[in-house]
Amino acid sequence: MLFSSIPGLEDVKEKIIQAVKNNHLAHALLFHGPEGSANLKMALALATYLHCQNPQDNDSCGECPSCQKMSRLVHPDMNFSVPVPGEGKEDKEDKKKLDPIAAFRLFAIQNGYGNISDWVYQNDFEKKQLNISKNAARQVIKTLSLKSFEGGYKIMLIWAPEFMNAASANSMLKILEEPPEKTVFLLVTSQPEQLLTTILSRTQKVMVRAFSDEEIMSHLVAENMCSREGAVQIAPLADGNMREAYRMIDQVADENTVLIRDWFRACFSVDINQIFNFVDNFSSKDKESQKSLLLTGINVLREVMLDKAQVNNLMRSADTDRDFIHKLGSHVLDGQKISRIYEILNTAYYHLERNANMKIMFADLSFQIARVMKPKQTAS
Ligand SMILES: [Zn+2]
Repeated sequence: MLFSSIPGLEDVKEKIIQAVKNNHLAHALLFHGPEGSANLKMALALATYLHCQNPQDNDSCGECPSCQKMSRLVHPDMNFSVPVPGEGKEDKEDKKKLDPIAAFRLFAIQNGYGNISDWVYQNDFEKKQLNISKNAARQVIKTLSLKSFEGGYKIMLIWAPEFMNAASANSMLKILEEPPEKTVFLLVTSQPEQLLTTILSRTQKVMVRAFSDEEIMSHLVAENMCSREGAVQIAPLADGNMREAYRMIDQVADENTVLIRDWFRACFSVDINQIFNFVDNFSSKDKESQKSLLLTGINVLREVMLDKAQVNNLMRSADTDRDFIHKLGSHVLDGQKISRIYEILNTAYYHLERNANMKIMFADLSFQIARVMKPKQTAS
C-alpha cells in the first residue's frame, strides 16, 4: 500500500516520512484517527515504506519485490493481530475454516476505511464475542522472537487493540517497552480512549486526522465514483468519514437500481398509472438526483450487455441485481433494443440541463422506452 493511494492528508504523510528519514520513528506507534479515517491505510503505507528496497523521497517505489508482496500484504515480515471471536467450544468447527489473517488481508485491501462492524459482517462473526486473547498476545511475542525472514524490519500491526483484555494487554507490555531489534509495532485504532494507559504510555502517537471535505470530493471524482455535483453534496454530509461517503454512494446506487428496475417493468407492461407515478416521482427530484438516476439506467443497460455477452468478470452490479439484469437481457431486450434505449437515456442525460418541464421529459422518455420494449415490434 503506497502513501499515494491515500487521498490528501499530505501533512500527515510528510510527518511520518520525515520521522523515518530522521530516524525518529519509535518502535511502537499508535495510529489513531476517527472512524472512516485512513488510520489503517496510513500504517500500512508506513509498513510498505519500511520494507521497500528502493524507497523514494515521498513514497515506496511500488515495484521492488517487497512492495509487490506488501501490495497483497503477504510480506513474510508483515504480521497481524486482530480481534476474533473468543474460544467457545461450539465455535471450534468455524474456527478451523476461518484463517483470520487471510480474512484481514482481504479486509484491509478491499475495505481499508472499514470499521469493526464491517469486520464482523465480512466474516459472519455476529453474536460472537470478539477479542485479542492472551493466547493471541503470546503468539505475537513468539512471532517477534523469531528472526526476520528478509533481514529487514519485522512489523506487527495490531488492529483494534482496544479488543485486548487486561490479561493480554499486560502480557504485551514488556515487548512493547523493549521490543527485539528492528521490530516495529503499529497499533491502529479509532478508540484510543479505550486503551489501557500502560499501553498508551508505551506508544508514540500518530494522529491521522479526518479527511477534509475537499479531500473527499476530489477522491470521489478522481475515482469516478460520482459526478462533481454529487461529490459536492456528499462530502459535507460524510463529515470527514470516507467509509460514510462510500456508504452514501452505494445507497444511492442501490435505491436507483430498484427505481430503474420497477420503472422499466412499468414501461414494458405499459402500465399507464404506474408510469405516471414514476414520472411524478422522478420529476420531483433535484437535477443532480435525476442525472444520477439516468446514469444508473445507462449502467443497468451496460450490465445487460455484459451479461448477454457472458463477460461477467467486467460486471459491477450487486449480486442482488443480477437476476433482474439477466431476465431483462433474456426476456425483454435484444442487442438492438438495448442500444436504442441506451441512446434514448444518453440523449435525455445530456439534455437534462436544458429541459424545463421535467414531467413532459420523463413521460416522453417512458413512452419512448415502452415503444422500444414492445414485444411485437422486434426489429426485422
Ligand atoms: Zn519498493
